[in-house]
Amino acid sequence: MPTLIHTLQSIVKQVDHATDFESALNVIVDSLVDALSVDACSIFIDVPDEASNLVMMANRGLRREVVGRIRLATGEGLVGLVAEKAEPIRLDNALEHRQFVLFEDSGEEAYPVFLGVPIISHRRVLGVIVAQRAREPFGNDEEAFLSTLAAQLAGAITHARSSGEMARLLEGGRVSLSCTLDGVAGAPGMAMGQAVVATHQVRLRTIPDKRIEPAEIGSQVERFEDAISLVRRQLMDQAEQMRQSLPAEECALFVAYAQMLESGSLIDDTLALIREGQWAPGAWRETVDQHAAVFEAMEDEYLAERANDIRDLGRRVLQRLMSVESGDRVYPDEFVLVGENITATDLANLPLEGLRGIVSEHGSGSSHVAILAHALGIPAVMGVANLPHTKMEELMVVVDGYGGHVHVDPRAELLAELKQYIHHERRVSDSLKSLKDKPAVTTDGCRVSLFVNSGLMADLSPSLDSGAEGVGLYRTEIPFQIRESFPSEEDQYRIYRDVLETFEGMPVVLRTLDVGGDKPLSYFPIREENPFLGWRGIRISLDHPDIFITQLRAMIRANVGLDNLNILLPMVSSLEELDDALILVHRAKDEIQEELGRPLRFPRVGAMIEVPSTIFQIDEICRLVDFVSIGTNDLTQYLLAVDRNNEAVAELFSSLHPSVLRAIDQVVQGAAREDTPVSVCGELAGDPIGVMALIGMGIDSLSMSAGSLPRAKKVIRSFSQEELSKLRLQALSLHEADEVREFYAARLDEKGLGELIRAQK
Ligand code: PEP
Ligand code: MG
Repeated sequence: MPTLIHTLQSIVKQVDHATDFESALNVIVDSLVDALSVDACSIFIDVPDEASNLVMMANRGLRREVVGRIRLATGEGLVGLVAEKAEPIRLDNALEHRQFVLFEDSGEEAYPVFLGVPIISHRRVLGVIVAQRAREPFGNDEEAFLSTLAAQLAGAITHARSSGEMARLLEGGRVSLSCTLDGVAGAPGMAMGQAVVATHQVRLRTIPDKRIEPAEIGSQVERFEDAISLVRRQLMDQAEQMRQSLPAEECALFVAYAQMLESGSLIDDTLALIREGQWAPGAWRETVDQHAAVFEAMEDEYLAERANDIRDLGRRVLQRLMSVESGDRVYPDEFVLVGENITATDLANLPLEGLRGIVSEHGSGSSHVAILAHALGIPAVMGVANLPHTKMEELMVVVDGYGGHVHVDPRAELLAELKQYIHHERRVSDSLKSLKDKPAVTTDGCRVSLFVNSGLMADLSPSLDSGAEGVGLYRTEIPFQIRESFPSEEDQYRIYRDVLETFEGMPVVLRTLDVGGDKPLSYFPIREENPFLGWRGIRISLDHPDIFITQLRAMIRANVGLDNLNILLPMVSSLEELDDALILVHRAKDEIQEELGRPLRFPRVGAMIEVPSTIFQIDEICRLVDFVSIGTNDLTQYLLAVDRNNEAVAELFSSLHPSVLRAIDQVVQGAAREDTPVSVCGELAGDPIGVMALIGMGIDSLSMSAGSLPRAKKVIRSFSQEELSKLRLQALSLHEADEVREFYAARLDEKGLGELIRAQK
């Protein structure tokens, strides 16, 4: 029925434009009364933790006073029955139904014709929409219409829950910011502190246009140029200051910012506008807007992110232009920086010793600030929609950088629980410190090598400190990502040399560039419908021998005299790719050898096992390489067909899925037949339960983030290989990931090691 479809579209549009959740609900009940010619319409929302969990949140046609007062339990009354069955119920005379419950002061007894549909999201009933009439029965079209609308409403309810609006409504409008918000995990860890809102005192968007006389042009140009050179100098000073807490590698960003202010279109366009008669602040605002808009319009998440860098620079210069100083701010001893758009430069002005966490409304895991936070060991949550940052100053905030959650002003009970988690995590970590210099050996004497995953210079010294025996995975794309253009061979040489030197005498696995998928490069845009199935990893390197050879040359040069380099090839899906890559490794090695005029040892070369096709050709792959490394993150993503970054299917992503474990087991057996060393470098390798499963399969080399290492070592030192190998047989026969987790968790509990996983929840 086209009219109903149009009505539906119009309701959805109005809901989208509603200023808050309450108005959205009212728009729906109002529109439904008109569209379906019903006498009454109401919406019940499920409020978990309440005994009578279905609360009427809006109605039209019944008495208004009952909103918030009519409450039913699932299974109670007709509304409760709809929720319980998770199916629509249509009745010509509801009053005769055995489950009808009359709410005397509602006025609904006048409308016995009943249609109730559940609001469902991810298999959960979030509420019920009810339409009632005095006489005319409901038809199929009307039921379909209401069901379609209910599906649309599910998103709004989920959002209202996560943004705290629901809680506010339930408390009768009393403003309470106490809520848990969901974002994207930016940097791991859990911490708490008082919120400090990053404010920019002058806002670009509030700067008006102002015409100037020709005689004023000179002074406005001068004003602009002074501000630019001052900010440029400030950025260089800050880069210097940051160098004390971060190595030069990460400070490159500040230098890049400063360079953007040296010359180029940002400066030229602004000067042109001033010369056309616009005052300096207005000209600057217009230029920044135009440049940022070009990036914002890009679909590529990483490129769109660059608009933030430009706006950040814009604000800094504007502050200078307007001569507004940010002033000497007093920071609490332990604080969490929150804001609409936290950027890397915000960190430069802070007393980092007190910074406990970062929460930003915009940004993602690939934002510079998230990368910096990771390097500094500060938990960060990015992309928190509707973060009420302007009202958060001084509120207590708990940042869960593992799960990407933010608890704002948590109530006493929750706060106590969260404090316990943080405290517990700290206690467990402290208790494990003594293991640092002890070997990772099972109780029956099997030695396991523990390596670290790295990608920033900043995490190298914590890695060395953690007792790691080398680097099992150095993600070279990270230094590529935090630059503004491809690093030269010399730049790369210096980075790789640093890593190889830091771990001199220990093996270091440098993975060749693994961009594409969810790891974009701003200066090398790739537009694809299905990036994870597209041009990424080794595919790009082979298609761009120029980039690949440069990287291989830098690695091989960096290895001269150290001989601890292992090269790892990502995203291999066929033998041909391996053959082609090996030819290029040989070519790069021959070139360097010739240039140096002396023979060089050929580095060990390995393949990542992360694309399912490699499981079934593991024997052939092992014959071509020196080692294989299982990337359980991508292997899980591709085996289970679950996007590793998609929140909507996050519950389905588990590397403990029996199919994933069986695949790993198959790889281990294949590699053993060829006598090829296997290690695991995905997240599973750092999960205590993953460690139990992997050691049980016979794996003796694991690579993980430095923070996960002590727990893994504790697990290894608490079990015998024989024990774990027996558990493997049982685990592999289980049906579900949860069963596998529970199975191993019970074994940890038996040894009194349950706290190793509880602290990570
Ligand atoms: C993996 O896929 O498991 C892996 C280690 O690589 P990345 O997470 O960098 O894709
Ligand atoms: Mg991978």
